[in-house]
Amino acid sequence: MRRKLAAGNWKMNGTTDTLREVKALTDAHPDPLVDMLLCPPATLLAQMAWARGTHALQIGGQDCHAAATGAHTGDIAADMLKDAGASHVIVGHSERRSEHGETDADVAAKAAAAHTAGLIAVICLGETLAQREAGEALAVVTAQLAGSVPAGATAANTVIAYEPVWAIGTGHVPTLDQIGEVHGTLRAALRDIMREAGGVRILYGGSVKGSNAAEIFSVPDVDGALVGGASLTAADFSPIVTAL
Ligand code: PGA
Repeated sequence: MRRKLAAGNWKMNGTTDTLREVKALTDAHPDPLVDMLLCPPATLLAQMAWARGTHALQIGGQDCHAAATGAHTGDIAADMLKDAGASHVIVGHSERRSEHGETDADVAAKAAAAHTAGLIAVICLGETLAQREAGEALAVVTAQLAGSVPAGATAANTVIAYEPVWAIGTGHVPTLDQIGEVHGTLRAALRDIMREAGGVRILYGGSVKGSNAAEIFSVPDVDGALVGGASLTAADFSPIVTAL
């Protein structure tokens, strides 16, 4: 059915020295039963692709521009990520939404650009603490999903990551019931917007660690994790891969 995915987002961390973690990780999981994905800063993409050797480890960017080419200083096109060895790109991470003002429409345009380039778009969404406390979480994520998933999305080219903003990097994790409620809601909402909804992987992200991964992965409709802090070392990420 849906193949599990353990995805790591290094954010703005890592230099060439850090690539030793890639060898440690691939050595620890020579033939994984799940998909493994690491998204390093763009400066390390090509070197990470080389460092994985023949291992099936997948590599992704953390953002892309919606345009294919042109005068966009500092930005990176989806094609360029692909050229550097990426198969995936994260779009709409909450840090991009909050620090760079990205809207659902921006995210949808970036995901569409990723699809055009032949990349799998990992589309992130999630409510803030204020929205959760106001009882708006389900409405917020449903609206984000509808606005951020572009036409042409399929189970093969799209992954959804539910990341409550208040759980990212905080050590606060929703209850298993809360995670299950959101994932079930997203699955049902996906059915309204695409045909292959049952095959789309929906990841949970936000303070996933080796110690809580197994219980989170036991929740129905959780198909893996998008991991920030605990993806930076093989020692932290490996138990999460094993828990899947
Ligand atoms: P975290 O980050 O695992 O450090 O909470 C998750 C993310 O932002 O993808």
